[in-house]
Amino acid sequence: MSFEKLAELKARWLPVYVVLLIVVIVIALHLALMYFMTNESSYANLALLTLFAAYFLLTGIDRLRKMKITRMRFMEVVSCENCGFSEERNHEAGDYVLKTKGSCPKCGTPLIVSAIYSIKEQR
Ligand SMILES: [Zn+2]
Repeated sequence: MSFEKLAELKARWLPVYVVLLIVVIVIALHLALMYFMTNESSYANLALLTLFAAYFLLTGIDRLRKMKITRMRFMEVVSCENCGFSEERNHEAGDYVLKTKGSCPKCGTPLIVSAIYSIKEQR
């Protein structure tokens, strides 16, 4: 899956999990209350089950929160040997260090790719 899609899924599912967790806790509280009022053990069992569900949701939220979505982005620096102009750009496929690429906007000398590196993006 792509970086954007994963980040979007994370942003979409986190609130869903939180809402579900609140609903499940309310149900558990309700069942516990019913148990104390009626003293029927089936209510206690159901309350326990919903608490388990709450626990799984909580661990799910924790996992989602801690999930690091990263991607590598490749950058390159093009510079002019004549006037010292340099610019950081997105790396393009096929570019390599010392490749001439376009011309300097200041003096017209051919620009040279002087560095290629990657950066980590995180969401
Ligand atoms: Zn120049």
